[in-house]
Amino acid sequence: LSPVPSDLEISRAQTPKAVDVLAKEIGLLADEIEIYGKSKAKVRLSLLERLKDQADGKYVLVAGITPTPLGEGKSTVTVGLVQALTAHLNINSFACLRQPSQGPTFGVKGGAAGGGYAQVIPMEEFNLHLTGDIHAITAANNLLAAAIDTRILHENTQTDKKLGINKTDPSALTEEEVSKFARLNIDPSTITWQRVLDTNDRFLRKMTIGQAPTEKGYSRQAQFDIAVASEIMAVLALTDSLADMKERLGRMVVASDKDGQPVTAEDLGVTGALTVLMKDAIKPNLMQTLEGTPVFVHAGPFANIAHGNSSVLADKIALKLVGQEGFVVTEAGFGADIGMEKFFNIKCRASGLVPNAVVLVATVRALKMHGGGPSVTAGVPLKREYTEENIQLVADGCCNLQKQIQIAQLFGVPVIVALNVFKTDTRAEIDLVCELAKRAGAFDAVPCYHWSIGGKGTVELARAVREAASKGSRFRFLYDVQLPIVEKIRTIAQAVYGAKDIELSPEAQSKIDRYTQQGFGNLPICMAKTHLSLSHQPDKKGVPRDFILPISDVRASIGAGFIYPLVGTMSTMPGLPTRPCFYDIDLDTETEQVKGLF
Ligand code: ADP
Repeated sequence: LSPVPSDLEISRAQTPKAVDVLAKEIGLLADEIEIYGKSKAKVRLSLLERLKDQADGKYVLVAGITPTPLGEGKSTVTVGLVQALTAHLNINSFACLRQPSQGPTFGVKGGAAGGGYAQVIPMEEFNLHLTGDIHAITAANNLLAAAIDTRILHENTQTDKKLGINKTDPSALTEEEVSKFARLNIDPSTITWQRVLDTNDRFLRKMTIGQAPTEKGYSRQAQFDIAVASEIMAVLALTDSLADMKERLGRMVVASDKDGQPVTAEDLGVTGALTVLMKDAIKPNLMQTLEGTPVFVHAGPFANIAHGNSSVLADKIALKLVGQEGFVVTEAGFGADIGMEKFFNIKCRASGLVPNAVVLVATVRALKMHGGGPSVTAGVPLKREYTEENIQLVADGCCNLQKQIQIAQLFGVPVIVALNVFKTDTRAEIDLVCELAKRAGAFDAVPCYHWSIGGKGTVELARAVREAASKGSRFRFLYDVQLPIVEKIRTIAQAVYGAKDIELSPEAQSKIDRYTQQGFGNLPICMAKTHLSLSHQPDKKGVPRDFILPISDVRASIGAGFIYPLVGTMSTMPGLPTRPCFYDIDLDTETEQVKGLF
């Protein structure tokens, strides 16, 4: 339709097929799914055992250039691409997407079901609670947080007898009993485990907990992070089985003891309870696109403050289901410098899967911003530079696209540029971007019209992806995990972001020393960096040069399996803007229809 109706109107106009019908179509057995409502189902992991001898399909990553705060259409392209592959080229395909956090849905950016005629439906179910996985993560995360502070209180205020500690014969205790009945002597100043909430609540960034008299003076400064930054979200995204998830949950380090030794969730005796809380969340969620093709929605870490990729399990199951000739299209958050780098160095390292191609999403709008156009702000109408042709701004901004292509090429994977076309883009602007992308070494560059016309607007992209993926991948990691932590951080800063060097705060240096001494030096790196620039300064657009990347702090996610440096003033709890999306969100109480989501 023209003009294109709202995302919610389009989603509502299409009745999804019943999820058991979809499951049957893609070869799932009746006892391999657990149905939630009419159009969502969880898929059981037993499927992996049944299909273990089936060859994997082709594995395609959708990444992007450095975006504006509005998002440049990676989810939309991911959905458009599978709609084109399956519904128009008759090739089995699966999209694997992240579950959106309530933070952006009610904050600035809106949901993440795609948009226009390239969406996952029903979009309100996708964007709201889905099947409760983020709630499960919040519950598990906060149980562990409660276990830490309560343990400190009890160890300091109770007798050995009450704690069940048998000092006369500690060797008589089994390993499990040690966790439950020994003193852990946690040093409160070393606690790194934070409480989480899936709301952009800036007032929880710093707080004092334990102020009631019942906590007997055991108050301390603490903070909340957004739920999707929880290490448990990363564990969910990187695990490949229930047993592995349990082991990872137990391995999570929450603090050091007074001798400097790491204290884990297992030491606190909470591994079993965390696994129980997460037992359903581990199963990927099956939904469908507007054109009835299958989608997994599973795990949702942000790419700026976490590792930014959907689950390994969803990708693995989808790769079996599509068969050898099929395609799995998965999305990495924000620009290729963060989401894609972590996809390769963290997710592919954990899964052992080898990607065949990268689709790099660009828009004329973002390129104009990189070329020196005025700033783009959510909720503020775009300036003239963005609504009228401006070849010079596009040409100048293509430096960011070229740099992101080069970053993808560091990993030896062919890159196809998908130019997500907006109605204000002109022919000359579109041609220029495609031309410059090819000159920068892209395997191909194609304009995409999925947002306004659905899968048939992305058929050319699908053909290019099919061709690139048939060439065979020469995939390689960027760094050897055995390098010292500082060297790995420096490699990412210089080779990916283009920094001159890095600068460590004293706090970051002492954490690196501690983690290295504790034996965690050989993990990959998950940088927490702004998504709005290749550098640490969100206002530096294009390709910033000669900057020194400041590392203000370093955390360790031992269960997830990475070291987590914080770049500059990165906050792990976003705030709400002056004009949040929730102003427009409402429920029609007569029809029970949700309004205002996008
Ligand atoms: P990303 O995944 O990169 O953050 P999305 O795919 O979520 O971006 O798109 C961001 C928003 O922009 C969505 O609301 C979507 O509907 C809208 N959008 C995407 N592509 C277009 C387009 N070509 N024309 C108009 N709006 C678009």
